[in-house]
Amino acid sequence: MATLRFNALKETLSRKPIPVEENLRRSEIFGKNVFGEIAMRQHLTKDSYKSVMDAIQNGSKIDRDLADHISTGMKEWAIAKGATHYTHWFQPLTGSTAEKHDAFFETFGDGTAIEKFNGGQLVQQEPDASSFPNGGIRNTFEARGYTAWDPTSPAFVWGTTLCIPTIFVSYTGEALDYKTPLLRSLSSLDKAATDVAKYFDRKVTKVTATLGWEQEYFLIDSALASSRHDIMMAGRTLLGHAPAKGQQLDDHYFGSIPARVLNFMRDLETECMYLGIPVKTRHNEVAPNQFELAPIFEEANLAVDHNSLIMDVMDKVADRHNFKVLFHEKPFANVNGSGKHNNWSLATDTGSNLLSPGKTPMKNLQFLTFFVNTIKAVCDNEEILRATIASASNDHRLGANEAPPAIISVFIGSQLTKVLDELEKVTNGKLSPEEKTDLKLNVVGKIPEILLDNTDRNRTSPFAFTGNKFELRAVGSTANCADPMTTLNAMVAKQLIEFKAEVDALIDKKMKKDDAIFNILREYIKSSKKIRFEGDGYGKAWEDEAAKRGLSNNKTTPTALQPKISQKAIDLYTSLQIMNEVEIKARYEIEIEDYSKEIQIEGRLIGDIARNHVIPTAISYQNVLIKNVKGLKEIYGNSFKEIAKEQMSIIEAISNHIENINKATSQMIEARKEANAIEDATKRAHAYCDEVKPFFDTIRYHCDKLELMVDDEIWPLTKYREMLFTK
Ligand code: ADP
Ligand code: MG
Repeated sequence: MATLRFNALKETLSRKPIPVEENLRRSEIFGKNVFGEIAMRQHLTKDSYKSVMDAIQNGSKIDRDLADHISTGMKEWAIAKGATHYTHWFQPLTGSTAEKHDAFFETFGDGTAIEKFNGGQLVQQEPDASSFPNGGIRNTFEARGYTAWDPTSPAFVWGTTLCIPTIFVSYTGEALDYKTPLLRSLSSLDKAATDVAKYFDRKVTKVTATLGWEQEYFLIDSALASSRHDIMMAGRTLLGHAPAKGQQLDDHYFGSIPARVLNFMRDLETECMYLGIPVKTRHNEVAPNQFELAPIFEEANLAVDHNSLIMDVMDKVADRHNFKVLFHEKPFANVNGSGKHNNWSLATDTGSNLLSPGKTPMKNLQFLTFFVNTIKAVCDNEEILRATIASASNDHRLGANEAPPAIISVFIGSQLTKVLDELEKVTNGKLSPEEKTDLKLNVVGKIPEILLDNTDRNRTSPFAFTGNKFELRAVGSTANCADPMTTLNAMVAKQLIEFKAEVDALIDKKMKKDDAIFNILREYIKSSKKIRFEGDGYGKAWEDEAAKRGLSNNKTTPTALQPKISQKAIDLYTSLQIMNEVEIKARYEIEIEDYSKEIQIEGRLIGDIARNHVIPTAISYQNVLIKNVKGLKEIYGNSFKEIAKEQMSIIEAISNHIENINKATSQMIEARKEANAIEDATKRAHAYCDEVKPFFDTIRYHCDKLELMVDDEIWPLTKYREMLFTK
């Protein structure tokens, strides 16, 4: 009966590490399969090379004739790397990447053929886009979608396919992907931050956002994964009793990496090197079979592409090693979930990190300016930022019993808190020379030393300053980084524009630049105080305190998504031309519908597993017990009751659990029917959240109890201990 489970276990136990070859030094293979600067210089004419570089650096348009030259060079390079096909590679709002492969191949009427790839095919394609989510945009405008080459992210060869990173937009120009708004936000932020950076260094002409993501994931044997259809279809286990040993001994974190896993990682890292993804660290995470991977940070657009790409590469490399990667935020109850920490900062074209202090007082004031403006931006837009990380799967982390909480707050450490406290006392108006000297020497001037020793890390904070960058830790492990990064860029851009206007207004009133900056920062520090929190993010105390401060605490996706379409959000995105109202609402529509669909799928799955797998197994076992009791009665006559009393109590307990499971399943199905009948997508999502989902816990509770009761030999679902501890 439990053959699938036992066959899977047998297969897993007989696995040997798959050998990997690592003959070449990483520095030699790094970026070998990327059509980057070196490859372009070798394969393009001078003019074509210059036009691509100009497009990358200044966003200029590429001439059609030159596009033909570029495509030819790119094709020759790709074919030499073994590519036979090309694809426009894009990130639709499904959350994964999309590609449609076409061969570099064209036939003539006379039976001969050539390899062909022209400028038009490079620059623009029309994928059959009707089946990608569009939140009604295409219905409204009856427009088709097209993909357009994004030269700021280099093309690459993956397997035998030349992949060309593209954006995906409708014919009427609305973004249908994650990248288009991201690129627009980066350009807004560039302009706003450059204008402010010029206060401190006139030579700055460009500011880029940098992103270093850390990806957490679980790795389990592919045979074990396939034996659980909840994992295969929902990405997580919907049932399963906790194993006797979980993560309480902390013996997995940073422990030695198991041999099979290590080979997977080495293989993966080699692929990453060829693809130019600068992966650097790998280690075990807190939970058993949980791991983390992190690259060196990059320009945010490229980093987003690399994160999307690596998730795909991980899937494929895992296959070779007979593993399945679980990206889900909470694949197993009662052990840690997975996130995707987004480390974010701002870099100038003069080579400085704007969130890092420097050697001069000016550099330190620059640091302070960007530091305080970021905090203020998060404070004023916390609910919108929270909305960008909301999803059915991330609900298992945020607001559940896991860090970080659903409340957005900023952690800066006690030392920087002291600095901000001092700055709050700055004189209103013109500063005296003594005050300025004192500030520069004793307050702002101390920042570099403070940051060298910025050790008090707070692991429960969703948005923490970590020395030279902010770290948004609340992003879900399955998410595309683009959405939260777009919003963070947008709100900081908006904030910096306001800051510049306020400082300039004071300068116009004949105040000195430094004085003006100190004056405005003082006000920002005061008005953004409520977002700063240094304490423990777990637990009720912070929830109460946050409520007093007026911070949002949106625990579930239907509630958390709402601010995405608030007037404030619409103003934020439209004023910077990052998204128009149609795009904003379309995205909301897609996400709120996705939520209902995901809960619906999980509901169907849990109902199926409970009724078709768990209950029949429980009945089989109950029948064994009944037979046993009957046998005892036959032998012992009337005194059987004493001898069979334990068996009889198990028989009754099983009946009780079966009854509860069956009743809750019927009620859940009824609730689903009612939810499905709701026309309005938002109301439907709330119904799924409040009326359908709660039954999962009841069903799970009783199924998990049965797991502890029923003979292990016949239990059909692969158990937690088997998935988490079989190496
Ligand atoms: P952890 O948070 O796990 O202790 P680190 O603090 O060493 O790890 O760094 C985490 C991530 O921060 C890395 O992926 C790194 O690339 C990234 N990072 C470092 N500096 C920057 C920066 N200036 N901008 C963006 N990301 C950065
Ligand atoms: Mg981190």
